[in-house]
Amino acid sequence: MSTQHEIPSYLTPHEIGPWGVYLEQIDRVTPHLGSLARWVETLKRPKRILVVDVPIERDDGTIAHFEGYRVQHNTSRGPGKGGVRFHQDVTLSEVMALAAWMTIKNAAVNVPYGGAKGGIRVNPKLLSEGELMRMTRRYTSEINIIIGPTKDIPAPDVNTNEKVMAWMMDTYSMNQGSTASGVVTGKPISLGGSLGRHEATGRGVFVVGCEAAAKRGLDIRGARVAVQGFGNVGGIAARLFAEAGARIVAVQDHVATLVREGGIDIPALQAHSSAHGSIEGFSGADALKERSQFWEVDCDIMVPAALEQQITADNANRIRASIILEGANGPTTPAADDILHDKGVLIVPDVIANAGGVTVSYFEWVQDFSSFFWTEEEINLRLTRIMREAFAAIWQLAEEKQVSLRTAAFIVACTRVLRAREMRGLYP
Ligand code: NAD
Repeated sequence: MSTQHEIPSYLTPHEIGPWGVYLEQIDRVTPHLGSLARWVETLKRPKRILVVDVPIERDDGTIAHFEGYRVQHNTSRGPGKGGVRFHQDVTLSEVMALAAWMTIKNAAVNVPYGGAKGGIRVNPKLLSEGELMRMTRRYTSEINIIIGPTKDIPAPDVNTNEKVMAWMMDTYSMNQGSTASGVVTGKPISLGGSLGRHEATGRGVFVVGCEAAAKRGLDIRGARVAVQGFGNVGGIAARLFAEAGARIVAVQDHVATLVREGGIDIPALQAHSSAHGSIEGFSGADALKERSQFWEVDCDIMVPAALEQQITADNANRIRASIILEGANGPTTPAADDILHDKGVLIVPDVIANAGGVTVSYFEWVQDFSSFFWTEEEINLRLTRIMREAFAAIWQLAEEKQVSLRTAAFIVACTRVLRAREMRGLYP
């Protein structure tokens, strides 16, 4: 299915990219929305887009300018919520799609947030620590007018981490004149961060992966897992699968692709990656020269946990896994979705599979507001319960309606968002 969409004037047809993928996903769910379809246009237009110039003084005295974004896609169910990405390929289309997927994800797991996302078009690996801090602080000051603990709460995403969140929290607090720990999540524990947040997305991927495997009669012990992306999400998911007895037969990051039939030693790979900034050069596995061979690796579970639009019509046919767990946001294009569906591959969509991060971000925000902090055990128990319940509800709906898990997740989420929209009514 490929519908012609109205392209917003601020995107050229060439830039439609991930936003186009999202629009196609909305088209697929619309026939299932009944009378709420009347409101569906609201999901096809971001509520608010802020594009900012982020100038910094480089260490060598020159001035550099970066393009920054914060998009609030929808706030019908609560404040905006979504990460901030620092990457050289960030575009407005990408940030719009990521913000929209946050709206869907937050509604799919029923946390009381809308959807938002931010980013800076920069390769942060080329900045010094001081430059990174100045860029983060200036970006935060620029978007200060639309973020806040009850308005829009950023969090980490690709190439951002606890340290970046601490700078954002401090900059916002300095602008406000009071300490506002609830303005971001994914903070260091000492600043009101939550236990378990660092691992939450990877843990959620693992939890729903176990549920999906059970539905397919696949024993996790001995299951062969291939992971693309060895950062926060992929690295932690790989470790948890390995601890549960699975064999991690392939890992790919932005530099290298490693394979080992008997299973890669994940703690050793993590130590290597932390020391060298990449998995490249790790001696405990074989390196594949051709990156695209990753998709052909013989495995049971494939976890794309890097960037969007990785599984496309060009490589979907080569995939041998029976389950795809979308750790990344938007890793599979709609055309690839169809190919994989026809092959009988079970895709656990991003909006469920990687929702563990925002779920524990929600716990962090609640703990910050009440200034009362939970134990890691409590957090992991609540996270596991929410992930399992969300997966079970979507599985049941998919069976009832004979649709994919993605369409089922979108039906649940869009119904929640549009019902809220309908009940609130249009202002004025
Ligand atoms: P990260 O920066 O910690 O790690 C990204 C990893 O992807 C790195 O290992 C990097 O080498 C690898 N990578 C980058 N480009 C690649 C390429 N072209 N091919 C193969 N590997 C590549 O980022 P993260 O936080 O783990 O996020 C990964 C994905 O998960 C993103 O899509 C993000 O939006 C999504 N996500 C993250 C969170 C979170 O809490 N961090 C939550 C939900 C979804």
